[in-house]
Amino acid sequence: MRVVADSGLCQGHQLCQGEAPDVFGFDAGADVVVVLDPRPPEERRADVSAAVKYCPAFALSIEED
Ligand code: SF4
Repeated sequence: MRVVADSGLCQGHQLCQGEAPDVFGFDAGADVVVVLDPRPPEERRADVSAAVKYCPAFALSIEED
């Protein structure tokens, strides 16, 4: 899987970091999400999926390889 974040949609809520802090970071200066690990291992799918689901800005997605 590949994790994609649309920084144009991100509103800086930072909920994604709560779900998967190893995958999602935050650029405080720009106030947007930063994908730390764009290709996380399959074991991380549940938490990454939760981040995608709960992002209030619908800024996150998972693309399959
Ligand atoms: S939860 Fe969504 S809006 Fe909030 S920082 Fe993450 S990507 Fe951005």
